[in-house]
Amino acid sequence: MTHIAFIGLGRMGGLMAANLVKAGREVRGFDLDPRLWATAEAQGLHPTTTAKTAAAGAAAIITMLPAGEAVLATWNELLGCAERDALFIDCSTIDVASARLAHRLAAEAGRQSVDAPVSGGVAGAEAGTLTFMCGGEAAAVERARPLLAGMGQKIIHCGEGGLGQAAKICNNMMLGATMIATCEAFALAERLGLPDRTLFDVASVSSGQSWSLTEYCPAPGILPKSPASSDYRPGFMTALMLKDMKLAEAAAEAVKLPTPLAALAARIYALYADRGEGERDFSGVLRMIREGRTSKT
Ligand code: NAD
Repeated sequence: MTHIAFIGLGRMGGLMAANLVKAGREVRGFDLDPRLWATAEAQGLHPTTTAKTAAAGAAAIITMLPAGEAVLATWNELLGCAERDALFIDCSTIDVASARLAHRLAAEAGRQSVDAPVSGGVAGAEAGTLTFMCGGEAAAVERARPLLAGMGQKIIHCGEGGLGQAAKICNNMMLGATMIATCEAFALAERLGLPDRTLFDVASVSSGQSWSLTEYCPAPGILPKSPASSDYRPGFMTALMLKDMKLAEAAAEAVKLPTPLAALAARIYALYADRGEGERDFSGVLRMIREGRTSKT
């Protein structure tokens, strides 16, 4: 019982699984999309035609899937047939309620589990520099740690099951709102005749400073590596930011906490995505804000 099963070999999962192979693990991978199987094989994985075949005899089962329903369906399918000692790790970004349910299902089946969503995007997945935000019992997280270390650099134990997802969406909620505030400031500066570069030089050393500004400046031509300087090629797609903002809204609703700023930010990203820009970097929302088109009317 030595191999790792990896379910979901998309943009993130394919690269993460390939890094596990590079770290010396035997990985059996499954994805619903058979077009990904050849790529997986070329990266040294053993592709399988079902999730159950990948999971049979595995020491750990890692899922990297689009949403909570897919994770729950996969864990439900595999919990009954996995090895007694198999560790279940979900690296997808999913709603907190589904993450908690997944942990409960695993515990009922006598298996250890960890929610370990990531930040760092496709570039971090490729470079093996992801940050993992982990929820689960300490013993399970410690078991997961050497595996996660093959795919990332930082592994943070956030608390009990589901709190990895909570950390992820709270972080992205801050990012989503901060980016829009930053874009509004650049748009206003332009209308007032203040050059982008001057606003950057001032705010990056003043109290308006943030990651959105100094590491990911949404105004083109300021930071050569930010998506803004490459026609807003992602980076982090608007569709994914919108997904995370909606997850944050759902979590806030569930605990009856009004979060009006995040709700408005989500509506602005939805508007930008509706303009056919879902696959563009989320900082591209600056263009729409500069046009003054942040409401449907
Ligand atoms: P993706 O759509 O490229 O990959 C998801 C893969 O899962 C697809 O290949 C799909 O065929 C497969 N899949 C769906 N249901 C399945 C099932 N039941 N069994 C097996 N395979 C199944 O998405 P991605 O960009 O790789 O993102 C994966 C997860 O990571 C998402 O939860 C996303 O929110 C999160 N995430 C993505 C990024 C990013 O920058 N792309 C960053 C951080 C987190």
